[in-house]
Amino acid sequence: MTVSNAVLRERRAAAVPQGVATSMPSFIDRAENAELWDVEGRRYIDFAGGIAVLNVGHRHPKVIAAAKAQLDRFTHSAFQVNAYEPYVALAERLGALAPFSGPARTLLLTTGAEATENAVKIARAATGRSAVIAFTGGFHGRTMLAMAMTGKVVPYKRNFGPMAGEVYHVPFPIAHYGVSVEDSLRALAFLFAADVDPEQVAAIIIEPVQGEGGFHQAPVELLRALRALCDEHGILLIADEVQTGFARTGRMFGIEHSGVEPDLLAVAKSLGGGFPISGVIGRADVMDTVMPGGLGGTYGGSPVACAAALAVLDVIAEEGLLDRANEIGARLTARLAAMQDRNSLLPIGHLRGPGAMIAFDMLAAHGGDEPDGAAAKTLVQRAHQAGLILLSCGTHGETIRLLMPLTASDAIIDEGMDILERVLQA
Ligand code: PMP
Repeated sequence: MTVSNAVLRERRAAAVPQGVATSMPSFIDRAENAELWDVEGRRYIDFAGGIAVLNVGHRHPKVIAAAKAQLDRFTHSAFQVNAYEPYVALAERLGALAPFSGPARTLLLTTGAEATENAVKIARAATGRSAVIAFTGGFHGRTMLAMAMTGKVVPYKRNFGPMAGEVYHVPFPIAHYGVSVEDSLRALAFLFAADVDPEQVAAIIIEPVQGEGGFHQAPVELLRALRALCDEHGILLIADEVQTGFARTGRMFGIEHSGVEPDLLAVAKSLGGGFPISGVIGRADVMDTVMPGGLGGTYGGSPVACAAALAVLDVIAEEGLLDRANEIGARLTARLAAMQDRNSLLPIGHLRGPGAMIAFDMLAAHGGDEPDGAAAKTLVQRAHQAGLILLSCGTHGETIRLLMPLTASDAIIDEGMDILERVLQA
């Protein structure tokens, strides 16, 4: 063996700042669909999918073939200098897939934070207004404006102020935290009365299902009420689909569960099947308010990532991944519901999530509501030792979220759930 996890951890500690934390102690060597292997040859089942990036799995053969074919033609030109067909083809496909009743346009970028920030830039240009409203517990990225919109101070905002101005937060409704849709809407009314004129608000940004915040689905009544408020005051509704997009929830986009039509959609993560690409899809009349040259980025819509993304969209259709997400969700929920009822296991509860965007909370006691973030942290470590990659999230770090590839076989999913059940033994 030429390299060990322990040696790499030492090298990493000396070369990489601690601010970029890593939850797993092992270093990855290679990966295939829903499995990965570390540098010491240990195999793991991947229930994290690189944080919601791998809905079509690690190295899907069609994605790799498309990227390789593009590598052999050209890797970069900058779309602003020399345009290329894969960017246009992807914009066409995304515009047709997104839930807009009229014509759409698509801007391609590289990261999720770039997508949410550009959605706000476009909303500001379209409305001539500056303020933005976001939700507590929401996550929209780590760059300056995205960080300001993110609704969690520790660790995302602490020591990084001042925050970008004119960003306001209202509580996201979560029943077991005691916050109802009415509470959220009342807070919005207070905000409009006390802090910001709704006629100065450019956009409301919301995740159809909060990702980092704990897989809490935005209630339909909330989304409908936001749509009505936006229409009343000329505000644009931005759906942040960075984590919910591309079949994870059993629909192409999470907002489709509500029937509410947004004005702008931010996408990233699973679009690229492992290659960095993001975008803003929006109503054509809104998108075209930005003057030529106002949008872009050197690497935005990299041709290799565009080729990969086009293959991802093919795979989602050809392999029926919308239905598969619902099947996986039903399989996970049945197993978790049985585990929830067993007193010999650590207390879990609050099973939730649409499609295969499934999560549960580690709790202080069976049948209770008190979160146990420390138990979730321990569980993730125990799972790693047992060969399963799990991710936690949520306000108190109490939530375990399952983000396995939608291309994972039943056998692999069951093997992973067996490991989960073993490490949940009290
Ligand atoms: N929005 C949401 C909903 C996300 O989950 C994330 C990433 N976790 C982002 C934005 C930011 O994406 P990125 O890390 O690619 O900037």
